[in-house]
Amino acid sequence: MVLHLDHGADFKMVMQALRAGFTSVMIDASHHPFEENVRETKKVVEAAHAVGVSVEAELGRLQGIEDNIQVSEAETFLTDPEEAERFVAETGIDYLAIAIGTSHGAYKGKGRPYIDHKRLEEISKRVPIPLVLHGASGVPAWLKEKLLATGAELKEATGIHDEDIRKAIPNGIAKINIDTDLRLAMTLGIREVVTQNPKEFDPRKILGRGREYLKQVIREKFTLMGTVGRA
Ligand SMILES: [Zn+2]
Repeated sequence: MVLHLDHGADFKMVMQALRAGFTSVMIDASHHPFEENVRETKKVVEAAHAVGVSVEAELGRLQGIEDNIQVSEAETFLTDPEEAERFVAETGIDYLAIAIGTSHGAYKGKGRPYIDHKRLEEISKRVPIPLVLHGASGVPAWLKEKLLATGAELKEATGIHDEDIRKAIPNGIAKINIDTDLRLAMTLGIREVVTQNPKEFDPRKILGRGREYLKQVIREKFTLMGTVGRA
């Protein structure tokens, strides 16, 4: 288990995380041209490795919105397998986030969200380190149904199918980022309590059910990733 900085924006932010005790960091310089991404990432690797912290970096560009990042369809590009090989060799990172079709957030734009499995296989053949899939939330049907029942407006929300995740794991995906599903779970708990008990104003009770739903979603993901019951 690690305490991980997701999408570290620059060297300074990563240094702040290291000082605060994070045990894993991501530097996301994927919006820069290749050489600059390498340079930024290398600098972070040198500092983080000096204190025994592992580094994730990103090559390629995911569509969607997440915290401080907003990427339009036109700015998206998928990870090139040859570039990925060079990037990993030149930077010395520990794990690589790749763009293979998924996008950030609960709204995956036009068409069915997908994983480019062929591209993943090509990258996996060339890259000897674990691969990371951002935008891997599934927007589980039970979660969406319950949310809609509370009056949430999420009809368009959609995610990656469990089957696609299962297929991606033997091809090198070792970490999935599923914050959208976790946000939905927490929001569901809060919405249920406040709509079913309009007199409730104890935040511990309002947040408590959200925590239970979080646990349920996380358990399902562990099962999906095959990490439950493994010796
Ligand atoms: Zn991400």
